[in-house]
Amino acid sequence: MSDHAAVRTPADTSLSGWYGILPPPKAPEVLRGRHKADWLIVGAGFAGLAAARRLSQLVPNERIVVVDAQRVGWGAAGRNSGFMIDLPHELGGAHYGGSQDHDRKSIRMNRAAIEFSASAADEYGLQKFFVRAGKFHGAATDHGISVLHEFEEHLTGLGEPFERLDAVQLKEITGTDFFVGGTFTPGTVMAQPAGFIRGLAEGLSRGVSIFENSPVISLQTGKMHTVRTVESEITAPRLILTVNGHLESFGFFRKRLLHVFTYASMTRPLSRTEQALLGGEPHWGLIPADPMGSTIRRIGDRILVRNTFTYNPDMSTSEKQIRRIGAAHDRSFHARFPMLGEMPMEFRWGGHLCLSLNSAPVFGEIEDRVFVAGCCNGLGTVQGTLYGMLAADLAAGSNEPTVTDALNEPGPVRLYPEPLMSIGAPLKLWAMQKRAGREL
Ligand SMILES: Cc1cc2nc3c(=O)[nH]c(=O)nc-3n(C[C@H](O)[C@H](O)[C@H](O)COP(=O)(O)OP(=O)(O)OC[C@H]3O[C@@H](n4cnc5c(N)ncnc54)[C@H](O)[C@@H]3O)c2cc1C
Repeated sequence: MSDHAAVRTPADTSLSGWYGILPPPKAPEVLRGRHKADWLIVGAGFAGLAAARRLSQLVPNERIVVVDAQRVGWGAAGRNSGFMIDLPHELGGAHYGGSQDHDRKSIRMNRAAIEFSASAADEYGLQKFFVRAGKFHGAATDHGISVLHEFEEHLTGLGEPFERLDAVQLKEITGTDFFVGGTFTPGTVMAQPAGFIRGLAEGLSRGVSIFENSPVISLQTGKMHTVRTVESEITAPRLILTVNGHLESFGFFRKRLLHVFTYASMTRPLSRTEQALLGGEPHWGLIPADPMGSTIRRIGDRILVRNTFTYNPDMSTSEKQIRRIGAAHDRSFHARFPMLGEMPMEFRWGGHLCLSLNSAPVFGEIEDRVFVAGCCNGLGTVQGTLYGMLAADLAAGSNEPTVTDALNEPGPVRLYPEPLMSIGAPLKLWAMQKRAGREL
């Protein structure tokens, strides 16, 4: 038996654009009093809801409970850029790819996770939040072009389709002549992340109990695990922790998880005149040639810019930091869309990414009948789904080869000792962002 008090619980500040453009959600169901469950999942992001959905398929008659500290969609799951990527996408790599064997396997697994999400989108009528549109990579410099050519070569080796685009073709899509060339890959789903994750929770809530605004403040593991919030206590024989970086808040994987934030801004709706000035297509998503550059999405009459990474070991950011980084978003926006003039951003926000030095996720059984899935290195819309599904399989006793494979993967390695991390991590991020140059 062991006790794990949470040294902090999540408190994402700032309203994300994705959440802000949806109608307000129904009043939350908050966990109160004493409860029992057969399966308890803490964390209702991509990993937690995938685990819940998989369990509801595997053990449909058992009581599955999901608890989240915040509203569903308020955390990282609803404040990301919505690229559900099937292909290798190594943020720390020079050209997004890894070794061929590794990448082939991860493509297969990513696609299984995307299909799992697609079946939920079909079942719960979420198609408008889950669009199989593919993604563009845009290069703003000759160096960016050479990175994309390397990426294309890697895709050719993997037998994966892509289309090379020149500046004119990219302008026809994006309306801007900022990009000198690009690459299109067809397998990415473009999600409205808050819409999708909220719809997923609503669909699941027909068979699964989901409690929101109920931060878990302690876990006591044993024959029956006991999970406490300020107002309640819930016991269950099996516990799945899908709290992403907050695993460390409970004392798990200490000194192995890197807490990084990234930031986005979304414009107010563009008028018809502004949309005509911009030109291009109404819906597209573009990833920079340099992983440290700016991601851009057009969602009908609005545009989103995401860039800048900061190291926040206390797992929080501030309005001041979000405002400061907003200035970087404005610079990137104006460089790409000068025809739109001083465009006000209606929403600015930041969100927590859990990374590890070796880009490994956390997955497995960390204590008797306590399972974990998360820390997906900025790719959690797909990989969180994947490891959430696999955690449910593992917890339900499956010895499928995919589960065994995942168990055999290395976990996150130890971080460098202090003060190397607190000095080195911000410096490294700064240098990588500097190197991105015009791609930022
Ligand atoms: C700006 C931004 C852009 C991004 N873009 C992309 C992208 O385009 N594609 C992509 O794949 N990924 C992207 N990501 C990363 C992606 O959002 C995450 O990888 C993903 O959300 C991880 O899913 P998860 O379910 O593991 O964790 P989370 O989504 O973080 O969910 C964990 C949940 O646990 C809850 N929780 C934590 N502690 C407690 C507690 N004590 N009690 C109860 N609940 C608790 C949290 O409230 C949260 O809801 C982006 C992230 C950001 C911030």
